[in-house]
Amino acid sequence: MSEQKLYPVKANIADNCLLNDQQYLDMYQESITQPDQFWGKHGNELLDWIQPFSKVKNTSYDPGHVSIKWFEDGLLNVSANCIDRHLKDRGDEVAIIWEGDSPEEDSKLTFNELYEKVCKFSNALKEQGVTKGEVVCLYMPMVPEAAVAMLACTRIGAVHSIVFGGFSPEALAGRIIDSNSKYVITADEGVRGGRGVPLKANVDQALENPDCAFVKSVVVLKRTGGEVNWNANRDVWWHEITESQPAECPPEPMNAEDPLFILYTSGSTGKPKGVLHTTGGYLLYATMTFKYVFDYHPGDIYWCTADVGWITGHSYLVYGPLANGATTILFEGVPNYPTSARMSEVCDKHQVTILYTAPTAIRALMAQGDAAVQGTSRSSLRIMGSVGEPINPEAWEWYYRTIGDERCPIVDTWWQTETGGILITPLPGATALKPGSATRPFFGVQPALVDNEGNELEGAAEGNLIIKDSWPGQMRTVYGDHERFEQTYFSTFPGTYTTGDGARRDEDGYFWITGRVDDVLNVSGHRMGTAEIESALVAHPKISEAAVVGVPHEIKGQGIYAYITLMAGEEASAELHKEVKAWVRKEIGPIATPDILHWAEALPKTRSGKIMRRILRKIATNETDSLGDTSTLADPSVVDKLIEEKSNAA
Ligand code: ATP
Ligand code: MG
Repeated sequence: MSEQKLYPVKANIADNCLLNDQQYLDMYQESITQPDQFWGKHGNELLDWIQPFSKVKNTSYDPGHVSIKWFEDGLLNVSANCIDRHLKDRGDEVAIIWEGDSPEEDSKLTFNELYEKVCKFSNALKEQGVTKGEVVCLYMPMVPEAAVAMLACTRIGAVHSIVFGGFSPEALAGRIIDSNSKYVITADEGVRGGRGVPLKANVDQALENPDCAFVKSVVVLKRTGGEVNWNANRDVWWHEITESQPAECPPEPMNAEDPLFILYTSGSTGKPKGVLHTTGGYLLYATMTFKYVFDYHPGDIYWCTADVGWITGHSYLVYGPLANGATTILFEGVPNYPTSARMSEVCDKHQVTILYTAPTAIRALMAQGDAAVQGTSRSSLRIMGSVGEPINPEAWEWYYRTIGDERCPIVDTWWQTETGGILITPLPGATALKPGSATRPFFGVQPALVDNEGNELEGAAEGNLIIKDSWPGQMRTVYGDHERFEQTYFSTFPGTYTTGDGARRDEDGYFWITGRVDDVLNVSGHRMGTAEIESALVAHPKISEAAVVGVPHEIKGQGIYAYITLMAGEEASAELHKEVKAWVRKEIGPIATPDILHWAEALPKTRSGKIMRRILRKIATNETDSLGDTSTLADPSVVDKLIEEKSNAA
């Protein structure tokens, strides 16, 4: 398929890029053969240490003794690295641009202003009783105070656990209990896509759970001024506890291996896991990947559309950009509100040079065609990124042509909550691109493919994607359950980190993520990832999104059940049915031809926008009374609709 197409490194940007191909290869080589030297050098160059480290890497993937430590005797502070060290040279430059849900609302914070806000709020948290090592739960809208609260936690050595503001009270309660958060920071209400989100009311409801009785205080930011219930024994206003605080707060010296934050995975495959990241290795990895993957140059205006509730919002909205002294945009709204041109309009308004978004947003905009760029120029854009799911080549091409005007390299970044930062990605200026491929590993990352018995596959091959050795940004444990950590990530293929994703490596050594291993189909003895079939479907001009799952089939073992959503204005018909089947047969081959097509109004997604195939599998096999954990589902009504539509699937 489109893998044949190779987009050369664009000359117009390569001239100014940080790295060329040879430099990438040289640095990669050093990072693998001399990890202590490589990471020690970059650790010293990219971060400020309160006490320098003398050891670099001390990690073991040995079964039963998995232990990961980087820079273990160094001391540093994350907020000081993200703010204080920039004050001398760029204190008056903008650190955070806030773009409100409404296009009329925006504001800016310089590094000086951010410093003052973070120090004051740090002092307020201390006064509330928050101490070093304590877990603080953030359930916040996308306002600058979300970043302020994160940075204030890191300043005083508290561990944040952010719960996406779109989660239900039950999901919030579960995460408060699991992470043992005695403090909760929230707002009266959030605003998203023109609608209010009752954050404080959700917290109130969550805390009615008797198992949350240990929660000591709830700090409430006034965002909308909407009415809220008040528990005077527990609730305090952000502004009241912060206003009169001193504008200085010395950063707490933290050990590199002290916990930095807990974050629960998206829950695409099952019950979310409390991923624990620590201070030094994580910050270095976020800082260095940000710099090279986005080819950051001072003066860039960087926009990552993710919410702070996801790992992307941690590493590439707050920590990576700010540690580099970059200007980062924090967007309260959604890419298609009030119109599908919003994302492009924000790019023009703030002269965005680097844009980082997700395939789900790209496909949603693509379904609207040119409306997504109407009246905008996007001429400031230089580099564009994608993260979260495999990006179908069709969506890649659309992003490249329509949003980026064939001018901007696309970095398709593969990584996970667990990995802390990007592991497989092109580097602008160094990597020729292939639509749909995440291409090559970042420094220090040793991906490999193994068959189901754990035998390593060489050359062009397809199999389970594993990582052979540790990198600084790797998670250290599942919070409170090291056993589960070893079990989940180190037991399937002992001695390596198991990603749970499948991948293919082509003749050029490029990696193509084929989907989650749990979702792999086995049709007449042929194992097939979901991504390839879905990409073939999405390549049809009338199809905007697709998801395939396996269903029992008498002859083939498994048959292919395809859920399809159509482009705006298109309608399902018997003719289209035939056409789509023939299309896949032609694109991939008869083996991949879907057995059943299900015209869907929408697909079930996690709140971070990922397709939940495990739910689609249950619907396809009529097991709707055992859907499993649905707390991370963005819109539960989608499931009812799919069950209704099922009678027409054929
Ligand atoms: P859970 O682990 O709870 O099931 P999740 O895996 O969706 O949830 P995340 O850590 O947010 O939680 O997502 C990581 C996964 O997202 C990867 O393992 C991969 O399946 C997918 N992914 C992320 N980026 C890419 C990409 N660029 N290409 C292909 N897949 C990607
Ligand atoms: Mg996962």
